Amino acid sequence: YLEIPKAVSIILHTLNEAGHEAYAVGGCVRDAMLGRTPEDWDITTAAQPQQVKELFRRTVDTGIQHGTVTVLIQDGGYEVTTYRIDGSYEDGRHPTQVAFTSLLSEDLRRRDFTINAMAYHPEEGLIDLYGGQQDLENRIIRAVGVPEERFQEDALRIMRAIRFAAQLNFDIEPDTFQAIRKFAERLELISRERIQVEMTKLLKSAHPEKFRLFYETGITAILFPEFDEMMTMPQNNPYHCYSVGEHTLHTMMAVEADPILRWTALLHDVGKVRTRSTDENGIDHFYGHGKESSEMARVFLRSLKFDNTTVDAVKVLTRYHDYHFDMTAAGLRKAIHKVGEDYFPLLLKIIYADTMAKSDYAKERLLPSYEKVCALYEESLAAQDCVSLKTLAVKGKDLIDAGVKPGPQMGEILNQMLERVLDDPDLNTKEALLALLPELHTSLY
Ligand code: ATP
Ligand code: MG
Repeated sequence: YLEIPKAVSIILHTLNEAGHEAYAVGGCVRDAMLGRTPEDWDITTAAQPQQVKELFRRTVDTGIQHGTVTVLIQDGGYEVTTYRIDGSYEDGRHPTQVAFTSLLSEDLRRRDFTINAMAYHPEEGLIDLYGGQQDLENRIIRAVGVPEERFQEDALRIMRAIRFAAQLNFDIEPDTFQAIRKFAERLELISRERIQVEMTKLLKSAHPEKFRLFYETGITAILFPEFDEMMTMPQNNPYHCYSVGEHTLHTMMAVEADPILRWTALLHDVGKVRTRSTDENGIDHFYGHGKESSEMARVFLRSLKFDNTTVDAVKVLTRYHDYHFDMTAAGLRKAIHKVGEDYFPLLLKIIYADTMAKSDYAKERLLPSYEKVCALYEESLAAQDCVSLKTLAVKGKDLIDAGVKPGPQMGEILNQMLERVLDDPDLNTKEALLALLPELHTSLY
């Protein structure tokens, strides 16, 4: 017995009253059985889209050509889709045509994984034609039907299999796994945006370390070959007890489930594949890898068509994750300024996670300085220190009023004033800063 929302049972009963079969189906049934709260409830029905529209007062034609109508009830929207058979797939992604059917069994057969191919009706109970319940119990992702055919039809299922494994902490059934390996190359047919979405879902899941499955199935070899290098690159130095790749997976596990933080964790050390040098004692060094990681992260995220906000954040956080802080109040203010006020607290989370994924030797040495940086940061926040032009006591307009000619030198003057304020917060008053003008002005010409 599954608890279903009132609106869903209203929709099912309305359809049934009119003589049409209808069931809750797919992800919502899976999640409800697992005791997870479903994100949305989807309904599958024998009724044609037109018939669905006639039965409900408020509907939206969300994907009417694929048989999907959204029914608006109370304050929610519910996708009601007509039983469907997907026609042949020509491009490895989109069925060239869909056909409606009157058989629930055919609709369930087109679905990707057994755990996603169950239907539920409050009076009839669970309809499970492909062993979904058993696979849920055994925590297994298994393709419905012949795995190779299913991944050949739609390569996005490759990403979905691994993403579900991470969200649910499931294993991938061996034949399904082998089929993924065999058809990994077909991911080239999938849009970068879809790959981005699936990877982000995996990274922000409860088990980001399942990213390893992308490596084991040969997907990173195609999409992100640097990751394969990371997995096989040792780090012979006392700070590390893992390869670069293993360390990366541990860093992702140690940071909270936020997309920017998890993407940063994934990419923070990618620059090590280009900066490794081994000294005469056999010790590995990775000088300047933060900078290299930042550039490589930018290229990779751009290739996945990421938005500027994410790219910028990950660039900054990877860039400074190996920053050596000057442990003074002024040193920290300068660091906050350099990194950016908004990014700084995120950087601290990355530094902590990165440290926790290192050897005991490293933790012992690095955690005290991390604590110190946090303490200095707290003090700086409490003091409401000015660390950017936003809170500098002098603005461009004040300079003009004081007789400075508008132009690029204005920005220079403001930046120099900020430099002084970073050293000495007491200078952050209009009077004190404007008093510096003659000195700054001459130094510029
Ligand atoms: P979530 O919404 O939590 O990501 P979900 O299982 O609900 O997971 P949706 O993308 O919302 O996933 O799709 C709903 C259902 O549609 C799935 O449970 C599955 O039965 C079917 N489905 C979705 N995408 C595919 C696909 N690419 N191939 C086959 N069936 C699919
Ligand atoms: Mg869903």
